[in-house]
Amino acid sequence: NKQILLKSRPVGEPTADNFQLVETPAPTPGPGQFRVKVIYMSLDPYMRGRMGAEKSYAANAELGQVMVGGGVGVVEDSNNDQFKTGDYVMCGTGWQSYCLSDGTGVMKLNPDQAPISTGVGVLGMPGLTAYYGLLEIGKPQAGETVVVAAASGAVGSVVGQIARIKGCRAIGIAGSAEKCAFVVDELGFDACLNYKDADFKEKLAAACPDGIDVYFENVGGKVFEAVLPLLNDDSRMPVCGLISQYNMTDLPQGTNMLPALMRSVLTHRILIQGFIISYHFHHLPAFLKDVSGWIREGKLKYREDIVEGIEKAPEAFMGLLKGKNFGKLLVRVSDD
Ligand code: NDP
Repeated sequence: NKQILLKSRPVGEPTADNFQLVETPAPTPGPGQFRVKVIYMSLDPYMRGRMGAEKSYAANAELGQVMVGGGVGVVEDSNNDQFKTGDYVMCGTGWQSYCLSDGTGVMKLNPDQAPISTGVGVLGMPGLTAYYGLLEIGKPQAGETVVVAAASGAVGSVVGQIARIKGCRAIGIAGSAEKCAFVVDELGFDACLNYKDADFKEKLAAACPDGIDVYFENVGGKVFEAVLPLLNDDSRMPVCGLISQYNMTDLPQGTNMLPALMRSVLTHRILIQGFIISYHFHHLPAFLKDVSGWIREGKLKYREDIVEGIEKAPEAFMGLLKGKNFGKLLVRVSDD
């Protein structure tokens, strides 16, 4: 059993030294338990928070323990009536090739309906995050302008496509010309801007001539500063993530934007609401019905970025925080 442990807590960007690869015997299930052979492990931005010592909405990972995370795999050996050998499941696997479970929080997957990898992607946590945040908080109306950053990624790609399905203009923001081309040409967004361009602010304003009605916040920082002056009266801003800040060790230097932000919130009656998707899993049935339907009808597409071998997980995770992934980042841990 290959396992990746949290060896030390990162200061700023994670480095290879924060992780340790160990090999242990495959675990044996106890009464009521079953063993899962992990096939795909999911790498997600929230894992950076778990590696730190700062208090957050979920408990921090302990030093010397297996890195936390979700994955999909196949049941190999079971003492649990509900889960048989050969069943495909999605569960909290951690960064390892085998895990034990008693069935708590485990979801069965049907490989005849969708590739199992989608259980941690477009039909899993990131897809639900996009669906819930956009529809329940963003409340997009036909004809409105919806803007989302990290637009080629797991969450952002679904946000913009649902906005289009609901009759909105979808404007993406991403970190390279290649990602922007994919977002427009493959995913069907109306436009996509590269936030690394020198004239990004002007380009964003030009792409949103009627202002912005919904800004789905994934990144924060400079991107948000460019969005703020464009927010319309009664606009909505679901705050999903702030990835540009996850490796920060201190507050950024420069102008304090807080007074300008609060003035805009007041005068434009802007709704800003943060959410953590683990509190909204009861939306799963409606989400699965809608999104799997849209995929079947060809209205919603997804892209996966698959890294081969668990040994590559730390490097791939470090890349995720710098935009090296292109699509939902997964690690193939074993063959199907
Ligand atoms: P992605 O697949 O979008 O990958 C992360 C992307 O973030 C990178 O590819 C990169 O894209 C972008 N990025 C990285 N650094 C920066 C930066 N400094 N400035 C701007 N963009 C940056 O990840 P997910 O779709 O899984 O996650 C997207 C966001 O959603 C994250 O903030 C995450 O924390 C959040 N999230 C929140 C949840 C919740 O419950 N609230 C649940 C799931 C996700 P690019 O090259 O385009 O810059």
